[in-house]
Amino acid sequence: MLRKSDIQSFPKAELHCHLDGSIRPEALQKIAKAQNLVISENLDEVRSHMQAPQSCQNLVDYLTCFDYVLPYLQTEVALEMAAFDVMEQSAQDGIRYIEIRFAPSLSMKEGLSVEQTIQAVAKGIAKAEKTYDIHGNILVIGMKTGELELIQSIFSKTLTLNHRKVVGFDLAGAENDFFMDEYRDLLTVVTENGAIPLTLHAGECGCIHNVFSAIESGATRLGHGIALKGDIKAQQKVSAHDVCIEGCPTSNVQTRAIETIKDYPLNEWLENDITFCINTDNKTVSNTTLSKEYDLLRTELSLSVETFRQLNKNAMIYSFADAVLKEKVLKEMTDFSFEA
Ligand SMILES: [Zn+2]
Repeated sequence: MLRKSDIQSFPKAELHCHLDGSIRPEALQKIAKAQNLVISENLDEVRSHMQAPQSCQNLVDYLTCFDYVLPYLQTEVALEMAAFDVMEQSAQDGIRYIEIRFAPSLSMKEGLSVEQTIQAVAKGIAKAEKTYDIHGNILVIGMKTGELELIQSIFSKTLTLNHRKVVGFDLAGAENDFFMDEYRDLLTVVTENGAIPLTLHAGECGCIHNVFSAIESGATRLGHGIALKGDIKAQQKVSAHDVCIEGCPTSNVQTRAIETIKDYPLNEWLENDITFCINTDNKTVSNTTLSKEYDLLRTELSLSVETFRQLNKNAMIYSFADAVLKEKVLKEMTDFSFEA
């Protein structure tokens, strides 16, 4: 039987975690003060702005929580502190490898360049790696709310910068049906370049077509994929491809993609050979941790020891980490002995 204490101490891996949605409220206060920006002294008040209600109306509603944080994330110091904070809390949660994703365009409102935002986030990650037993990498996001040209320029500047910590690209933001058609040419440039792999938010809401478009566009990982729930044929189609779904249970409840954690398709996906892993999406906006997500699956859906181990291994296998790091963390996962 899987125990809560084992979930906490197991060397975990997380692939889907947004920087701006995962800063602890107390860290945001520090970030604001370091820049002499006004922020409430009342931690509960700050927290209430940063956390989404248990049930939003939809994804768009959930995404408004980010509006409060972004004005504080416009300098290099702020981004570095934010990245350090997400790494620190992940290390305390027993995570051994994490990919933190962020959108440079959302931190360029006061003059930072794409390169500066990436270097600042990388600095925060590197600082935490020196202090804690955790490794981190960066996924660069293009926001679908922005102009196509802006995303294009961010991706091309990222490719030119060629920072060793940037390991993947993503497209995020509100999801429309058939959105992928608009980005196909851009993504072809990314995948043909081959230097940086692709993960895409797809099927976070209702449109299953987006899941298949994302696969056709060359994504090897898909964020959420919850649209696959209940469609066995589609799941069989997905399982034939070598892709991993980055599942985010609590986030899916909050955006009303599913009603409760009990509705999360954990066992359905296992039965249909879908490769997936579990993630927080946004630690603060969703008021969660990776251990909490697994614990919910344990209590609500009887997650077993072996499935828990395999889901973490899936995350590591499909991570964009280098081969040496993959092997190291995978070995720790294999060697971990659970309480009898
Ligand atoms: Zn996400």
